[in-house]
Amino acid sequence: MSRMHFQEVKCVNCGHVGKFNVWDSINVDTDSKIKEEVKSLDFFKYTCPKCGNDFQVDYLTVYNDIKNHFMIYYVPKEDIEVVDKIKQISLPEKCEDKARIVFSKNDLLEKICVFEAMLNDVLIELIKPFVISKVEEDGIKECEAEKIYFSNYENGKITFSFPEVKDNYKVDIPVQLYEELWRRNKIKKLKGFQIVDKNNAATYLEK
Ligand SMILES: [Zn+2]
Repeated sequence: MSRMHFQEVKCVNCGHVGKFNVWDSINVDTDSKIKEEVKSLDFFKYTCPKCGNDFQVDYLTVYNDIKNHFMIYYVPKEDIEVVDKIKQISLPEKCEDKARIVFSKNDLLEKICVFEAMLNDVLIELIKPFVISKVEEDGIKECEAEKIYFSNYENGKITFSFPEVKDNYKVDIPVQLYEELWRRNKIKKLKGFQIVDKNNAATYLEK
């Protein structure tokens, strides 16, 4: 079951105070429509009943996809105390190695896509620096390539997108590269919610 409560929201345009449905947890197995709403970010959209202005509302929530055995905590502000509490939560055994904490909506959407594609996010993060070095050869600046997201996995290709590079720039890498990494590395047994990004991914490998 998804759980929700109402929270007061002040319109950034007209100052009117209205009510917003805040979902403390999202269960996409029981609410299939909600999955599309999260992916389009309509889920976080609030429309002011007075002036019609709409804007994004940020709040803590946990996305549960029990069928695919993953859970993702969205923490809109990096807060050590909140993160520590989340790390203490005990998880269903099948979700142990696919429970993550993210701090942005882009990261939330990316983790959902990675896990739905049945890929391992530690390996996806390890591939990113390699992909970034490739795009620099294409003349793209390092600062523009810093924001890199897994986009999709199709026809033997893993695609990464770069929202800060113009023209919807994307890069494909052959899945063989991913499979090679999979063969060469052993990923530590993970327990509890973890933060996995390109800066720390290597720490999740067995030495
Ligand atoms: Zn308003």
